[in-house]
Amino acid sequence: MLKHKINKLLIGTNNKGKLREIRSLLPKNIKIHSTSEFNLKSPTENGKTFKENSLIKSKYFSKKTGLICMADDSGLEIDFLNKNPGIYSARWGGRHGDFSKAIKKVYRELNKKDKNWKNKKIKARFICALSISFLNKKIACVLGKIEGQISNEPKGKNGFGYDPIFIPIKKKETFGQMKPSQKYKMDHRYKAFKKIKKFL
Ligand code: IMP
Repeated sequence: MLKHKINKLLIGTNNKGKLREIRSLLPKNIKIHSTSEFNLKSPTENGKTFKENSLIKSKYFSKKTGLICMADDSGLEIDFLNKNPGIYSARWGGRHGDFSKAIKKVYRELNKKDKNWKNKKIKARFICALSISFLNKKIACVLGKIEGQISNEPKGKNGFGYDPIFIPIKKKETFGQMKPSQKYKMDHRYKAFKKIKKFL
């Protein structure tokens, strides 16, 4: 743990949806910097787990800027698809990170596996590994999860990524239909954040 309170922090993501959400979770007394201020590309995510990839990002962005960095690696695991897309969630959107392409691929893969999948409960979960690093040193790395299921069709225009096809447990609406403020209070990133905030 750091001896001093963190008063400025870089959020190590080029994903605007994540940036918005992490910003809303952080205490207002911390000065937040984003990667766009430094014009930085993202590193290659060649880790085998969410945690490894999260640390690759927080260390990389910290070394590039000299700032303490918080980064997230997250994704959607679908049990029926052997936990795919998992750590490949962003890559299912292709080179340009096209989320509608990624969603089409989910439905295509479900259809390939079983034409009758819509009559089944397709269990899934969002996972988020959140890490804080300073240069090459890990300060903290935690995991948050939210269980749920895949909806039979995309619903809602809010959020980003797979939000329109994920119905969290005990809810009827997809994340895409919920107000961002409602999603932010229950999702995988929020749960990871609750574990990591003592390091701030
Ligand atoms: P990465 O962590 O940058 O490798 O990308 C994670 C990918 O997982 C995102 O591009 C989204 O497609 C998906 N993802 C992660 N968190 C969420 C979320 O809260 N809602 C919807 N999709 C998400």
